[in-house]
Amino acid sequence: MRSKMKPIVYVTRTIPEVALVLLKQYCEVVYRDEVPPPKKEDILKNVVNVDAIYCTLNEKIDKEVMDASPRLKVIGTMSVGVDHIDVEYATSRGIYIVHTPGVLTETTADLAFALMLASARRIVECDRMIREGKWKLAWAPTMMLGYDVHGKKLGIIGLGRIGVAVAKRAKGFNMKVYYYDVTRRRELENELGIEYMELSQLLKESDFISIHVPLTSETRHLISEKELRMMKSTAILINTSRGPVVDEKALVKALKEGWIAGAGLDVFEYEPLPPDSPLVNLPNVVLTPHIGSASYDTRNRMAQYAAEGIIKILRGEEPDNLYNRDVVKIRALHSVKMI
Ligand code: NAD
Repeated sequence: MRSKMKPIVYVTRTIPEVALVLLKQYCEVVYRDEVPPPKKEDILKNVVNVDAIYCTLNEKIDKEVMDASPRLKVIGTMSVGVDHIDVEYATSRGIYIVHTPGVLTETTADLAFALMLASARRIVECDRMIREGKWKLAWAPTMMLGYDVHGKKLGIIGLGRIGVAVAKRAKGFNMKVYYYDVTRRRELENELGIEYMELSQLLKESDFISIHVPLTSETRHLISEKELRMMKSTAILINTSRGPVVDEKALVKALKEGWIAGAGLDVFEYEPLPPDSPLVNLPNVVLTPHIGSASYDTRNRMAQYAAEGIIKILRGEEPDNLYNRDVVKIRALHSVKMI
């Protein structure tokens, strides 16, 4: 039976138990315990009477969804990226957005590095060769040659939390690290021994390029044909940010025609990647299915952090994982109470 006292939260799909237990202490939970994301019409039906939506990056929380939810106060997403939410509209309506910054940083940086090593040293190709029974010579001077990672030049695009964590790993590999960001981070340049570069210069200089910007209207297709053509023919591109930051059609052309040597991709313009995508047939690309944060510990931490943010908002407190801080001003302007 519904308690009148407790705020209502709609959880769009199956989440780690730790978050559910927490939410149930403070909220009435409308739980869609299914692994695939819901259809838009299901979301629209379920948000009508709720105070909070707990979602993931696969649910588009746009104006239509928010308009269907007149009481909505907070959207909590189990992701650091918020490109699936109409942030501007939420803010204008005084709806808080909480996300999961920080708790997935190291895990995602690990994956970026794993993709870098796997692409450079052809790990997936080698594995496939053995499984397909094609390993005929025990050792050969020219068999499966790849690129060194240690001592090479790494260009980081977007020196935020994950970009910094990748830079730290690269230092352990004795790499020279360059970065490009809209904000220059001079204190980190000294601390980490890294160098700022304009994007075009970074593209020309780097042996590896790793992308860590959020998806925004400015970063959509930040790496297109022009940028790919600037890269070295021996360069390897790693993308663990969001698929649309790279123009995938141009990337396929670059990989096929040898403008660059390879790529390691965790994210794609359309996910799941269609099985007939030309990327699937390219030997010089390593593909993972958007698993940047997918470790047991990190997924639990993300789930919990998003739940904690929602609960804090519903209790009238300001959480440290509030994304749209301007909402506080908007609500004050309209004299809307936190609850
Ligand atoms: P962050 O906000 O700490 O860092 C982003 C950096 O990008 C900032 O330094 C910012 O100044 C910079 N930036 C923004 N716009 C830019 C532009 N136009 N040009 C250059 N730099 C720009 O974010 P974070 O926690 O490091 O996460 C980065 C992104 O990684 C997230 O937004 C998310 O989309 C993605 N991500 C993916 C996975 C995954 O599973 N593959 C996991 C976690 C995060």
